[in-house]
Amino acid sequence: MVNNGVAVGIDLGTTYSCVGVWQHDRVEIIANDQGNRTTPSCVAFTDSERFIGEAAKNQAAFNPANTIFGTCIIYAKRLIGRKFSDSTVKDDMKFWPFTVVGDSDDRPKIVVNYRGVEKRFLPEELSAMVLCKMKEIAEEYLGKEVKNAVVTVPAHFSDSQRQATKDAARIAGLNVLRILVEPTAAAIAYGLDQKLTSSSSGEKIVLVFDLGGGTFDVSLLNITKNSCKVLATAGDTHLGGEDFDNRLLKYLVEEFSRKHGKDISKSAKSLRRLRNACEKAKRVLSHSAVTTVDIESLYEGIDYHAKISQARFEALNLDLFRSCLDTVEKCLKDAEIDKNNVQEVVLVGGSTRIPKVQQLLQQFFNGKELCKNINPEEAVAYGAAVQAAILSGEGSQNIKNLMVLDVTPQSLGIEVHNDGLMEVIIPRNTTYPISVEQTFCTGYDGQKYVRIGVYEGEMPRVADNNLLGEFELSGLPPAPRGKDEILVTFTIDANGVLIVFAEHKISRLKNSIKIIKGGTLSEEEIEVMVKDAEHLKAEDEEFRKKVKAILAFEDYIQNMKAISQSNCMLEASVKDMLNYYFKEATEWINSNKDAAIYEFKYKTLQLESICNKLIPGSEGMEIEEYE
Ligand code: ADP
Ligand code: MG
Repeated sequence: MVNNGVAVGIDLGTTYSCVGVWQHDRVEIIANDQGNRTTPSCVAFTDSERFIGEAAKNQAAFNPANTIFGTCIIYAKRLIGRKFSDSTVKDDMKFWPFTVVGDSDDRPKIVVNYRGVEKRFLPEELSAMVLCKMKEIAEEYLGKEVKNAVVTVPAHFSDSQRQATKDAARIAGLNVLRILVEPTAAAIAYGLDQKLTSSSSGEKIVLVFDLGGGTFDVSLLNITKNSCKVLATAGDTHLGGEDFDNRLLKYLVEEFSRKHGKDISKSAKSLRRLRNACEKAKRVLSHSAVTTVDIESLYEGIDYHAKISQARFEALNLDLFRSCLDTVEKCLKDAEIDKNNVQEVVLVGGSTRIPKVQQLLQQFFNGKELCKNINPEEAVAYGAAVQAAILSGEGSQNIKNLMVLDVTPQSLGIEVHNDGLMEVIIPRNTTYPISVEQTFCTGYDGQKYVRIGVYEGEMPRVADNNLLGEFELSGLPPAPRGKDEILVTFTIDANGVLIVFAEHKISRLKNSIKIIKGGTLSEEEIEVMVKDAEHLKAEDEEFRKKVKAILAFEDYIQNMKAISQSNCMLEASVKDMLNYYFKEATEWINSNKDAAIYEFKYKTLQLESICNKLIPGSEGMEIEEYE
């Protein structure tokens, strides 16, 4: 058990992230500096600055050209742990507003323009920026450094994507105590609720319905007093709140065209503004029957006003809402569980606040009451915080016994006889920790070595699956075909780390080899990225300090201007002289925005000494410090 200070739980969401911490025997979900309990998973680069979270999202509408590049971790998150040549990456790319290129190792890199210079980031680095933000939010609240975290990932994340998330956390300066699957985290939050509010015992089949911003996941869990096991998962990686926003957006773009005869989709900025308004309207429609969208000067100076009813919003999205039920059905089928045997249906994800979604789901389960007592956007971070407390030894006795069992998101196997076929060793949805052994024979006479490729995926041909690693068992003594036996062992530990052993059985030679799966980044690369991340952070800090220095200078000029003008004791010629200095100082600021902080401070002091001499009584005037 690690006990190295406080540990937080972070839900690194596709669109929104959330951080929680176990304190005073309960979970505290931590609000960001804007007072919001979830923070946009968003990064933006501009000519002068980098924005993360609220600030990045807020400026998106005004700066679409720069914001599109690297803003949305949603895309980065879809890229994480994938190869650039992956067909899914190619398919996804068509929808991305920014450029993605492959590096020399076939890893996707996102191209951004920062301070006028082209920069390329791996998805891990962009995710690290959001994780770093969440870490800072927690540190601000706790008043101390946070080093450890439990980070959650979607249930459909492959193993390499989980490892890549771990790498992202390391780049952000976080030690990952465990990568937890989102529904499991939600279930922990839920299970804990149950334990604290009732003394119910025995086991429960729970369906977690997680409809978020960009993804949809359904999971079936078996919750007993001391454990939480995922029985099956199903999902849609391209369905969520943003699709609902888009449907509304499309409808309003058409309406605008009908009303004003203009196509606003020609302007990226107008579209961005309207999309933001759509998201807001959608949220309101979860608790009101009707709402309005009002945007001043939306396109070519035209003010836009539209009324939208809940019924209209539902009609626009009904097919998407209904498709969620197909996924629920698939998950139940996978786990071979009848829907009547599901005891609890838990809502997770911001989009489950939509009344129609709730209504359809409730109907599907024959009117069953849905569990809504967990705040849907916070449930995952809540569970992660509980798990973090358990792993860091900070949790109370109430939660000590809770054990998490996870399942493999994809089948794991090997290619044995160079025949291109996948031999599954651990099937998808297998609970771990687990160890599985299988014996294989050599393929031809006098075989000297065996190549073992380790793959994850569901396709029968290994070429269509994801190669996790490969190794050789060499130096085998000569033997006829089929005589030599190779024992292959797959072991997955509690952290989901897979270790593959291969051992030459007959000769009992000690030539077994193991592969430990890792992310795509080497130690050295991570070290470089940690340094880069620190450098970017220092630049952010430097920029903020500079803005403060400029503000202080400008404020001082304004104050002195006001004082000198209202001072009737000052001669006109002195006032003229002062006005000259004020003008000169203002001009200097405007043409020296790139100057160093000390130069602004020096210029401020220079003006101060002039004012002290020329304006009687100004000596005691403080220069506003924005530190
Ligand atoms: P993630 O998918 O990143 O985990 P969340 O679970 O927080 O994120 O879900 C975010 C999505 O939920 C966004 O699309 C947001 O617009 C949507 N959402 C949040 N609140 C509401 C609401 N009251 N009604 C409808 N949708 C909402
Ligand atoms: Mg989520």
